[in-house]
Amino acid sequence: MSRPPFRSAQSNFTWEGVDLLAYKEEGSAPFKDITRQVLFQDQNLECELRYFEMAAGGHSTLERHEHVHAVMILRGHGHCLVGDEVREVAPHDLVTIDPMTWHQFKATKGEPLGFLCMVNAARDRPQLPTVDDLAQLTANPTVRAFLENS
Ligand code: MN
Repeated sequence: MSRPPFRSAQSNFTWEGVDLLAYKEEGSAPFKDITRQVLFQDQNLECELRYFEMAAGGHSTLERHEHVHAVMILRGHGHCLVGDEVREVAPHDLVTIDPMTWHQFKATKGEPLGFLCMVNAARDRPQLPTVDDLAQLTANPTVRAFLENS
């Protein structure tokens, strides 16, 4: 595989020669106004670094899985749910998402929210919440307010 050593940042948080992709396959899970760019991917590295960005009002999927996410907010402000904690996030904040922890990002501040996300190259499929999971999550008023804010 041949690849250039340098990829210049372009306007609007895109990078030279990096495809702007759909977040996930349409209809595979609930999400809104979010794109994906794979910045680093190497067979021997065993992880990938991606950049996700949601437009104002957009959100990622509410999900959990065995693999871990290491996240750095790169653009804008918004809110993030990890487990039973909701936090406002800002550029350069770090977010660690442990195994089987419910998580979701929302661009709640009228601006795009973008973040780097490091993840295993080989990983389990995300799980979506069941009705019971949602009942448990929304029993916490903070989490309910976050989930209802779209
Ligand atoms: Mn995830």
